[in-house]
Amino acid sequence: MENSRKIDKVVNLAKRRGFIFPSSEIYGGLNSIYDYGPLGVELKKNVKKAWWDFMMARKDVVGLDSAILAHPRTWEASGHLDGFTDPLIDCKKCKNRFRADHLLEKKGLKPDFAKTKPMDMKDIKCPECGGELTDVRQFNLMFKTFMGPVEDSASQLYLRPETAQGIYTNFLNTKESMRMKMPFGIAQIGKAFRNEITTENFIFRMREFEQMEMQYFVHPDGKDDIFDTWKKLRKEWYLSLGLSKENLRFREHEPDELVHYASKAFDIEYNFGFSESEAGFKELEGIHDRGDWDLSRHQKFSGQKLIVKDDDNKDYTPHVVETSGGVDRATLAFLIDAYDEIEGGRTTTTKSVKDAEVVLRLDKRLAPIKIAVLPLSKKVELSKKSNEVYDSLVSKYRIRYDETGSIGKRYRRQDEIGTPYCVTIDFDTLENNQVTVRDRDTMEQDHVVIEELESYFAEKFN
Ligand code: ATP
Repeated sequence: MENSRKIDKVVNLAKRRGFIFPSSEIYGGLNSIYDYGPLGVELKKNVKKAWWDFMMARKDVVGLDSAILAHPRTWEASGHLDGFTDPLIDCKKCKNRFRADHLLEKKGLKPDFAKTKPMDMKDIKCPECGGELTDVRQFNLMFKTFMGPVEDSASQLYLRPETAQGIYTNFLNTKESMRMKMPFGIAQIGKAFRNEITTENFIFRMREFEQMEMQYFVHPDGKDDIFDTWKKLRKEWYLSLGLSKENLRFREHEPDELVHYASKAFDIEYNFGFSESEAGFKELEGIHDRGDWDLSRHQKFSGQKLIVKDDDNKDYTPHVVETSGGVDRATLAFLIDAYDEIEGGRTTTTKSVKDAEVVLRLDKRLAPIKIAVLPLSKKVELSKKSNEVYDSLVSKYRIRYDETGSIGKRYRRQDEIGTPYCVTIDFDTLENNQVTVRDRDTMEQDHVVIEELESYFAEKFN
């Protein structure tokens, strides 16, 4: 199935089955803010764990968890205060608000990203009502807040728009405390906030979201090889967790499109399918060469030396190769890619064979629930045995216990949320101590003795 046909179905499934809810829904929702439900929180945690394990398996990368609030000088130094803006435009008639660059892109025109002169919007009308548009204004995306009881400019802080700056301001602390040798990386997962102008496309563009970023500090010589290695490794990571090759691609940023800190940038793009055209491909993660912009700026603004010595004992400011991915965008991509719908169903025994059957073919490591325990009936003897099975596995795996509805329906409920294995306990189990294990993807069934379940699953999940 085309991804453009999947997106609405995934949004529907996400709400219906407890993955993602609109935030504060009982109050009518809050634009572009989402909550992760019981299955969503498991899936998102698994995405983060896969990324964290991938980074922490490396000898040259260490972790960090810096605060969301930072000294306000951080954002002067980083350039976000002056430069972290999007071009905003309003319709004079219907008062709708748009991103000017997005309106140009929709018309097939290339936006001029240079902020030194206004964007050429003379042929563009409001896409909603055809009305005349205002001039373009640059709008800063950082959320403001205040520290302490007085709300004045001296107490003004910002919610971080990226996690990376906390890594730069902890560069020396981390290097020295962990005795890291150059080159090395610092990885961090955490919330970021952007007051986005347009907030379409579900969790693709949110105002509160999570990033998984790794900043790799290098000597400028040899930086290009390191950049290419990270670019390759990051794409392979998505492929290894199940995204299909044809839905992933690289896109290099044009020189006039590069953000203020970057001298080279590639996006890993995923075909989210928001439209049927090429524009279905959108940024999933950025690989950026940030040069020595960040450390030299923090050096200048803080007065602290952020330098290291090269092999000839000469001082230099490290350059940075960054991999910057969105947890929510990755979660959405994994959901879309895993979504499969089988017309007419996979089984011929259930009454509902005419309905399409949904199977969420998530990688086992990402699946929110690993095993479902399903007693064939609610009879006490079966419940007792089933609870024993549940108890024997629950310390190792996230497990659901479901005893309501026909067994066919229960399999389908688990297929729809991507549970790789269902364990069925029936009356034979009471005689021979064997359960039936059904595989989500092949629907093959194995008969396994209860005492051997642990080693059976250890092998399956390895
Ligand atoms: P876009 O061009 O789509 O606005 P960006 O180039 O501003 O993205 P970066 O600043 O490179 O994004 O941020 C790194 C990553 O953080 C992105 O690749 C994306 O996965 C994630 N991200 C950025 N903004 C958002 C957002 N508003 N909602 C969800 N994820 C986001």
